[in-house]
Amino acid sequence: MHTKILKLSSTAIQEAAEVIRRGELCAMPTETVYGLAADGLNPAAAKEIFRVKGRPQDNPLILHIANLEMLYPLVVMTPEMEGVMMELADVFWPGPLTMVLPRSSLVPDIITAGGPTVAIRMPAHPGARALIEAAGTPIAAPSANLSGRPSPTTLRDCADDLTGLVPMILDGGDCDVGVESTVADLTHFPLDILRAGGVGKEDLEEALGYPVCDVSAPKTGEILRSPGMKYKHYAPSTPLTALLGSGEDSAAWLDKQSGEFAVICFDESAPLFAAKGIPVIPYGRESDSVTQARKVFTSLREADRLGVERLYIQLSPSKTGRGAAVFNRVFRACGGDMITL
Ligand code: AMP
Ligand code: MG
Repeated sequence: MHTKILKLSSTAIQEAAEVIRRGELCAMPTETVYGLAADGLNPAAAKEIFRVKGRPQDNPLILHIANLEMLYPLVVMTPEMEGVMMELADVFWPGPLTMVLPRSSLVPDIITAGGPTVAIRMPAHPGARALIEAAGTPIAAPSANLSGRPSPTTLRDCADDLTGLVPMILDGGDCDVGVESTVADLTHFPLDILRAGGVGKEDLEEALGYPVCDVSAPKTGEILRSPGMKYKHYAPSTPLTALLGSGEDSAAWLDKQSGEFAVICFDESAPLFAAKGIPVIPYGRESDSVTQARKVFTSLREADRLGVERLYIQLSPSKTGRGAAVFNRVFRACGGDMITL
């Protein structure tokens, strides 16, 4: 299949909307990661998403909306849920927050994996919202990577996975947030965080005025008990190990390792590794989880292209704000293979 790559413009959006309305797929930029878009109310189109990505059918899709009016036909909320939804929508929509709510009968089974709830997000990216409006339908859009690979946050990364597999990719440049949305389940009052993402737990708590629970957080004990493949996701092809510890300790430890390897590292530690002749890919300062989030997926892909035998990534144990999402993605990318120095 020929893949047309179009720079975002109003004519490109009209063309992409045609593709969506025809029941075909189009990769689109959002502020989180590139999404693989299809008409969310067309089961055959949504099915194509699973086929192209190689995504297990028991993993439901998020429906993207352009405005709050689009939400109501898709969900059946108790007044309590609607209250929480409105409070959150007020602060975080449009933006990187997905809300899980009881579904209406309008939502196809394939979107919800047959479950009683549907996940909804209003993206902040103006191009994404314009495409949803032009298509005139909620858009189902999981990350535009092949299943298991790091999510694409640049046009190149998106095109690497999907060229030849979809008729169109909209080029919106680099994604601003770089990790996926925070998924909040509003069917458990007040809510449970099912996936850490662009919106921090603390931000949700500040908006609501009470604590919420992150049920997705990997526990340190789990790392030791099950370092296996169970969590593998977002992974480069090259084996990856995360390093928790100072730059100095990490450099000293790496100095003793054999074979060819590279390090995705904190900006301030790059000179320590480079001085030992180790190839480095800096992904932000240790204290800057916003930059790390923006760069983590594309750095994993860039590191994969180096053709070394093993990759290491420095990881901050701090899990506040976007740091929780960075920790979660790296934890899964390395399959729980973490070394504390
Ligand atoms: P992706 O769009 O590839 O980032 O994946 C969507 C994420 O949202 C996955 O982690 C799904 O499991 C989650 N998700 C989608 N729909 C639901 C739902 N109805 N209930 C719970 N989680 C959901
Ligand atoms: Mg994904």
